[in-house]
Amino acid sequence: MTLTAEILQQYTAPRWMRRARCANSDPALFFPEPGDPGNAVKTNAAKRICRDCPVKALCLRWAFETEDRFAVLGGTTPYQRTRMTKNVPKRRFRTSGRFTSSAVRRKKKP
Ligand code: SF4
Repeated sequence: MTLTAEILQQYTAPRWMRRARCANSDPALFFPEPGDPGNAVKTNAAKRICRDCPVKALCLRWAFETEDRFAVLGGTTPYQRTRMTKNVPKRRFRTSGRFTSSAVRRKKKP
């Protein structure tokens, strides 16, 4: 990495990234190549690094905010994050300010 790239990264990357456990890890572990037969091994190694990371929650939030679809972030794969968003129940916001799910509304009908 050139000095300019290092300086740019220092000023553009979120501050919490400085405490990341993966800072000195092999980036190939966190960016699985499509079709690589060693992906499962690499992904599991990346997840093991994430397990005790002090900024894991921030990293996961960042993954959702940036809609990353390529890297292991916050101890999750892109596939897992997609599943996480699809498993969130659909909620509607009522004028009273309370959330209600469609399942709850169905129950109230006779
Ligand atoms: S949670 Fe994992 S990917 Fe995120 S900063 Fe920590 S070690 Fe890196």
